[in-house]
Parts: sequence; structure tokens; C-alpha cells
Amino acid sequence: MAVFCVQYVPESADEKALLWVKTTLLAYNKKRNMTINKQIELDRRYLRMAKIWSENSYCNRRQVGALIVKDQMIISDGYNGTPAGFENICEDEHSVTKPYVLHAEANAITKIANSSNSSEVATMYVTASPCIECAKLIIQSGIRRVVYSEKYRLEDGIDLLKRAGIETIYINPDEK
Ligand SMILES: [Zn+2]
Repeated sequence: MAVFCVQYVPESADEKALLWVKTTLLAYNKKRNMTINKQIELDRRYLRMAKIWSENSYCNRRQVGALIVKDQMIISDGYNGTPAGFENICEDEHSVTKPYVLHAEANAITKIANSSNSSEVATMYVTASPCIECAKLIIQSGIRRVVYSEKYRLEDGIDLLKRAGIETIYINPDEK
């Protein structure tokens, strides 16, 4: 059986240009897809780290962890809990969360205020969908991306972030 190998040889300058555009586009898309896949993998990894970080929380009802990442460096972290100097008990005798318990996002953002870092254009990883109060803080802190894993019945926090032009990405941790 004869095998024919036909090689395309561009003739005119136009054809050459077209071939160049096609090859460049193909290479660009391949690189872009690789970058996107790498980003998703990184996002999943940081979210898993935020989940591990949430285990620091001494709250019984719910443990939430948050990380702030900039240029692939963790510049801050937080979990839900009472302010510094208060006893490490989140709930009252009726198992109701005390009103002064800080959310993980608020703890991570305020920690930056106490450092020489800046959260400008950073990404926040948080194990639960941010509430509206934390969404306000996230907007003001200059964070540009929020990656979260647990959806909350109220979506007003996420809606506010979207309105402010912040990229919000939901990742299901059970999905591989
Ligand atoms: Zn919150």
C-alpha cells in the first residue's frame, strides 16, 4: 500500500502570512490553556491549604479559613474567631455565635493592616462564600480575585463582589 505524504508549501506572501497567523494562534492557545489549567490547579491547592488553616479555629459551629495570596506568596491568613485578648470561645451557652466573632476574611485582611504587605491585586482563598460584611472589606482592600469553596444560601456577598468587578471563582473541593 502506498502512503502519500503531502506537505503544504505556501506560495504567495498572503498564504505565508496566513500560515504564520494560524501557527502562532495555535501555539498561543496551547500556552493559554496550559496557563489556565495551571491556575486551576494552584487555586485548588491554595483552597486546600485554606481548609487546613480553618482547623485552627476554635469555633464549634463552623470553621472557616482564609488565605491571601499575591505573586504566589501567602501574605496573610485568617480563621474565624474572637478578637485578640478575648477568650477562645466563639459560642455562648445557647450555642449561638457571639456577635464579636471575626470572620476568617476579616481576620486575614486586618492582619495585613498590621504588616508591611499590601493586599492590592491579591487573591483571597476562603473555604466559605463571603458574607456581605466581608465582601465590603474585600472590595476596600484591593483584592481582585476571590476563590471560595462552600456556597452559602445568601449570595449577597458574592453579588456585591461581582458588582465591584472582582473575579469570583467557585471550586467544588470534592471534584477532582
Ligand atoms: Zn463574613
